[in-house]
Amino acid sequence: MAFELLPLPYEGDALKGAISSNTLFYHHDKHLAAYINNTNNLIKDTRFATMTLSEIVKESEGPLFNNAAQAWNHIFYFESFSPQRGQEPQGELMEEIKKSWGSFDKFKEEFVKLGVAQFGSGWVWLVKDSDGKLIIIKTPNAENPLKTPGQVPLLTFDVWEHAYYLDFQNRRGDALQALWDVVNWPKVEERFSQKL
Ligand code: MN
Repeated sequence: MAFELLPLPYEGDALKGAISSNTLFYHHDKHLAAYINNTNNLIKDTRFATMTLSEIVKESEGPLFNNAAQAWNHIFYFESFSPQRGQEPQGELMEEIKKSWGSFDKFKEEFVKLGVAQFGSGWVWLVKDSDGKLIIIKTPNAENPLKTPGQVPLLTFDVWEHAYYLDFQNRRGDALQALWDVVNWPKVEERFSQKL
């Protein structure tokens, strides 16, 4: 099954201030498109050809893992944002965040701090761990929580330079901080309440 590049779930300028239309264009139409094309080329006529993208991520290594995981990570990332500004988590998710970090502000601070601490390229994630607790983790390059049994990814920020350099140059912390304004918390809550 060949994977397709789906359009973004919002207009190109919908996240401006956090992510410019220029960055979104290159990030989605060039970077994500390349990861999807590479994945399609690598799975052709192999046992991976009938799998879903997350199945491929879980079962592959090397170049196929790198491309499939980057495709999965970027789709998940782009779906984590919304043109509706300044949303906050509600209900049980907010309670769990407060239980783990004391306050929503403290959670955001720790999340950005870990994203800045990732040396080189990678991702910072809010994850529901196998015991149901919320944790923040960072991963290098294409790595993600899918290969860790029981971990459910809820939110991610991309810390590869291509994600922010056009808008924020070397200021990764400022780039990550700006994303809070456009996080699609209802989507994160949906992932949080999924019974897996
Ligand atoms: Mn990226």
